[in-house]
Amino acid sequence: MSRIVTGLNTLEPFVLTREAVAAAGEFPFKTTEYYLSLVRSCSEDDPVFRQIVPSGEEIAGNYPSDPFMEEEKMPVPHLIHRYPQRAVFLANNFCASNCRHCMRKRIWKEKPSSASLEEVREAADYCRRSGIEDVIISGGDPFLLPPEFLGEIATLFRKRGGVKVLRIGTRLPVVDPGRVSGKLLKTLSHVSPIYIMLHYNHPAEWTPQGDELLRKMGTCGLILMNQSVLLKGVNDEASVLGELFMGLLERGVKPYYIHQCDLVRGVTHFWVDLSRSVGLLRELQGYISGLALPYLAVDVPGGLGKVLLGPSDSLPRKEGKYLLRTYTGREVLYGFDS
Ligand code: SF4
Repeated sequence: MSRIVTGLNTLEPFVLTREAVAAAGEFPFKTTEYYLSLVRSCSEDDPVFRQIVPSGEEIAGNYPSDPFMEEEKMPVPHLIHRYPQRAVFLANNFCASNCRHCMRKRIWKEKPSSASLEEVREAADYCRRSGIEDVIISGGDPFLLPPEFLGEIATLFRKRGGVKVLRIGTRLPVVDPGRVSGKLLKTLSHVSPIYIMLHYNHPAEWTPQGDELLRKMGTCGLILMNQSVLLKGVNDEASVLGELFMGLLERGVKPYYIHQCDLVRGVTHFWVDLSRSVGLLRELQGYISGLALPYLAVDVPGGLGKVLLGPSDSLPRKEGKYLLRTYTGREVLYGFDS
């Protein structure tokens, strides 16, 4: 297990601007010594460094902190219900490493906490009442919870809540594989099938230790999928994405989504223009395994859900923005405010 570090002096010799220090005041810096060891050069051109270094751009502009209205879409504590049969359960509010592109960075300054057993039961009961079939256990990072508790959460949703599909979102295998215990894997294997949604963004995040963990997770019967985020200056090149997606597949991990970076306060400097995002998929289609090509997932503001795009999608425009259609058929305008 690697130590978690929070001091900005850890980033030396890189010199933060005054604005970047202010950004760290609003959105605290935190990472692990393991993830820091993957940095090859202390510069914003380094794909790992860029994901952990505070930037002055985070506090420029005034995009909303919660455009997806997560707080308003919670019928019971910790459970976000946006789709008819699917919900997200926020099990805790802390991570081992604060990703600068996190769409929930608004909660980073909260006191670390997790859902209580009573709240999990309440959420499971709500799922049963509402006919929810698919629950994503997210956070924070649920892999940081005690193994027995995470196992209990999963069991309660499955048995008490009647949930058919269970997913757990985690970045811990990427930022500190040594912290993922054998006990956790064994506990989760008892609740199988369970889908583990990993979060690799760049081939520089692969290590022998991480690969060994993926192998063990597979052996325990966990189904491994990956959700990357498309990040300007980190992975917005077809060659990088091709290597990432094929490398994931080779390691037994299905690239499921690549998320369009959200238009959320503190994150927008990572945003890639949507036509370029689709263009990157187009460049890859036919040149990598069809299994390796993920959907491009765009979360549209207003809590209207995700729009999934593929390499063949055209992008009509209106009033200087992209015209997207949600899963309910509703048309929404999407893009930077001009
Ligand atoms: S691991 Fe996920 S929830 Fe945690 S900071 Fe990174 S993106 Fe946010």
